[in-house]
Amino acid sequence: MGIPVTLIPGDGIGPSITSATVRILEAAGADLAWDSQLAGMAAVARYNDPLPDATLDSIKRTRLALKGPLETPVGQGFRSINVALRKTFDLFANVRPAYSIVHGGRFDDIDLVLIRENTEGLYVGVEHYVKVGDDPKAVAESTAIITRAGCERIVRYAFEYAMTHNRKKVTLVHKANILKNTSGLFLDVGRQIAREYDHIACDDVIVDAMAMNLVLRPEKYDVIVTTNLFGDILSDEISGLVGGLGLAPGANIGLNGAIFEAVHGTAPDIAGKGVANPSSVILAGCMLLEHVGQGERARRVRSALEETIRAGKRVTRDLGGTASTDEFTDAIIERL
Ligand code: NAD
Repeated sequence: MGIPVTLIPGDGIGPSITSATVRILEAAGADLAWDSQLAGMAAVARYNDPLPDATLDSIKRTRLALKGPLETPVGQGFRSINVALRKTFDLFANVRPAYSIVHGGRFDDIDLVLIRENTEGLYVGVEHYVKVGDDPKAVAESTAIITRAGCERIVRYAFEYAMTHNRKKVTLVHKANILKNTSGLFLDVGRQIAREYDHIACDDVIVDAMAMNLVLRPEKYDVIVTTNLFGDILSDEISGLVGGLGLAPGANIGLNGAIFEAVHGTAPDIAGKGVANPSSVILAGCMLLEHVGQGERARRVRSALEETIRAGKRVTRDLGGTASTDEFTDAIIERL
C-alpha cells in the first residue's frame, strides 16, 4: 500500500495531463495510492457543488493532493475553489520553483524558488466603496492585513526550505520604503529570523527593483520570499523567464495539508484535442514525491522529462513539436 494521495483530475485539459502524470509516476515506481475525487465543473455536473464534501474529506484524510486545473463556475452561489481549499487547510505557503530546462534561450541558468505568503495582505478581502455625493463608488478602500505570526511562519518556511533543498541564499522582497507598517513588519521579522540561520545568506530587495533584476540577472537569485500580492505578480514573471506556464508547477503548503498543481488553467481552447503539455503537472508530481520523501524517484522523473524536452523530437506543440500528450508521455516513460 502506497502513501494515500487525493487525485483531482480537474476540468478542460486536466484529466488528460493528470492521467499522463499518474502513468509517469507509476512507471517511476512511485509508492502512492491514488484516491480520485471530483472538483470544478466536473463536480458541479455530478453534485452541483464545485468542491464537494467527499473531496474535502478525502484531503482531510490524506493531507496530500495532486490537482489538475479547475474551472471556477461564474455566478452566484458557488464558492471559489482555491480560496476554500486554502482556508480549509490553512495552506499558507505557495511554492513556485522555476529553472531553465531548454538551453539556448535568453536565460540558461535560472534556478530559483519563489515562496509567496498565501493568506494575508491585500487578499484578505477587506475592501469597500465610499459614497460621495451621488456617486456610490467615488472611493474604493482596501485594507492589507499583515501579522507578525504570518510573517514569521512564511519566512521560517523559506529558510527551512533553503536548508532542506541545499539552497544558499534567501531574498526578502518588500516595499518597506513606502508601506512602512505592513511591508515594514514583514522586513523586520524577516531580518530577525535570518539571524537564526547563519549559514544561509540573506538579502532584501524592494519589489520594483526585484521585477527589473529578475529580467536582467535572474541567475543572481536562489530562494525568494515575499507577501501575497508581490508574490502573485513575481511568480508569473518568473514562469515567463523559463518558458511560460506550460513548465510551471506550484505547491500550496500548510500544517494540515499540501496541494500540488500546475500553475496554468484548463486551456479550454485545446481541451479534448489531446495536445496539451503535461509538464507542469508532472513537475508538480515531482514536488509531491519530494514532499513525501521519495526524492530519488522525483529526480528520475525530472531528468527523463528534461531529456525528452531537450531532445526536442517528441514534444507537444507549445514546445515546438507535433507530439500528442500521449506520445510525449510515452517518450518520457521510455527514458525513465
Ligand atoms: P489557461 O492557463 O488555461 O490558458 C492560457 C493559454 O495557455 C491558452 O492558450 C492555453 O491553450 C495555453 N496553455 C495552458 N496550459 C497549457 C498546457 N498545459 N499545454 C499547452 N498549452 C497550454 O488560462 P485561461 O484561459 O485564462 O483560463 C482558463 C480557465 O482556467 C478559467 O476557467 C480559469 O478560471 C481557470 N484557471 C484555473 C487555475 C487553477 O485551477 N489553478 C489557474 C488558472 C486558470
